[in-house]
Amino acid sequence: MARLLILASEPQVRADWKELFTHAGYQVFQASDLDQALRSIAKGIDLVIYKIPPGFPLQSIKELSRDRTLIAIVESGQEKDLIKARAFGAYLTLRWPPDRWELLQGVENGLERRRLINEGKILMEKLTKKNREQRRLQRELDNLSKKALEVEDSSYDILQSMGSGLIIVDLEGKITSMNQAAERILGYKSKEVEEIALEDLKAEGEKRILNWEDIRREVVRIDQEVELIKRGGDTVLVGFSTSPRKNVKGEMVGAIVIFRDLTEIKKMRENMRYKDRLASLGELTAGIAHEIRNPLAGIKTTAQALKSEFDPQDPKCEYLEKIIKEINRTNSLLQELFIFARPQKPQFVPYDVTKVLERVISMQEKSIEERGVEIKKDYAPDLPLVPLDPNQIYQVFLNLIINAVQAMPKGGDLFLTVKQDGKDWISVIIRDTGVGMSEEVRAKLFDPFFTTKSMGTGLGLAISYRIIQEHGGMVTVESKPGQGAKFTIRLPLKGREAVPDNQLPRGV
Ligand code: ADP
Ligand code: MG
Repeated sequence: MARLLILASEPQVRADWKELFTHAGYQVFQASDLDQALRSIAKGIDLVIYKIPPGFPLQSIKELSRDRTLIAIVESGQEKDLIKARAFGAYLTLRWPPDRWELLQGVENGLERRRLINEGKILMEKLTKKNREQRRLQRELDNLSKKALEVEDSSYDILQSMGSGLIIVDLEGKITSMNQAAERILGYKSKEVEEIALEDLKAEGEKRILNWEDIRREVVRIDQEVELIKRGGDTVLVGFSTSPRKNVKGEMVGAIVIFRDLTEIKKMRENMRYKDRLASLGELTAGIAHEIRNPLAGIKTTAQALKSEFDPQDPKCEYLEKIIKEINRTNSLLQELFIFARPQKPQFVPYDVTKVLERVISMQEKSIEERGVEIKKDYAPDLPLVPLDPNQIYQVFLNLIINAVQAMPKGGDLFLTVKQDGKDWISVIIRDTGVGMSEEVRAKLFDPFFTTKSMGTGLGLAISYRIIQEHGGMVTVESKPGQGAKFTIRLPLKGREAVPDNQLPRGV
């Protein structure tokens, strides 16, 4: 029930209005002066009806109308007083004597308005509270997402900067992204392979990469190898492992493939295998050569002794002559075998590489010319001296130049290039325009006893390889059938010790 306060000095007026409003269903309080009214207000009053006598200061309205509705009945009835009363906060101003109906209506409207205002206030309060809560939640959310981003960022960084390739695939095996190392190894940009199935990248005849059964069971095989097709069609051997990719709920959403480029490791493995083979072949060869040399020496002395028994004009002498010649040839082969089987430690001295080359050329000049081969030199000026064993390196250049000349039976050009290669290496390139070689020949080139020549020993390149290795250098070959061959020898300018395999430049 709404609480009304009637403030009027005349008891008659108060009684009259009390009856009216009590009848209308309000709880009515009375006050005869301002002090009393202010005291009553403390009890909680919703609306004040204030009959203001003429000349009474209208400021009093201000105090009474704070937080409640006030209806001012202005006794003077003057327009200016009515306006003033409004200005001081009266909700409604009426002239004396007010129309009863108007008064009732005014009270009702005033209370209704107050109720609406109060409701609005409550709603407003609720809203502000909600807003505040929402802002707090928003802030919390912001923080959380920032943290999430940070975590994502740092794991992104780790994935990007790790040396191994990493490919993420969805449940269909389609690539959704890859890290920088993967891009580098495969030559693709992440975007280019997105949506391509990982299996499409494997070289022909290779086994499956994604074994979902294993992935699901989180079986990790670390020794898996597969050849992948790089951008541009070349292939690269990689070792890889796969693991499931799960979302936050732990459901499997795809797989993660981590892989490493095995090209270097493969080369090292081959190198090791080759060295092993060389070592055991060396042992065997040394044994055999030794066994042959002694009886051969015996045969030779006997043949020589027998020859001296005959008259030099005797035709039988010619046969013995032939025998001795063959023995000499076999002996020089044995000599070569010994070099191969019992390699000497190089005696290093700082030496001019071009000088060694020149020595070989001057020794071979005649046979080179006879073949119609033209030498084209390109020596860089001011080359540094290289720590090397001149006799052994002579042997190497001799072998390569003889091979080159032999590869050009109809003549051609022999290019000899010497240059510095970076700050640590000297390169000697011996290139011919001869018959070249097939991929199969190229693969066996350095194998001892591998030869395609009827009178060849197949030891020249094997020995050369070993010598260069002892010098801490390397030999590489480029050749195609009919397009000549290019042998590049790199010698280190510094270390005399053999360089460990994993530090050799690419191409060994
Ligand atoms: P050999 O000369 O006694 O055959 P090498 O070890 O010197 O033994 O060479 C092995 C084989 O490598 C040769 O028989 C030849 O088939 C091939 N080869 C070497 N050098 C060249 C070259 N410059 N051009 C073409 N083939 C070559
Ligand atoms: Mg040879």
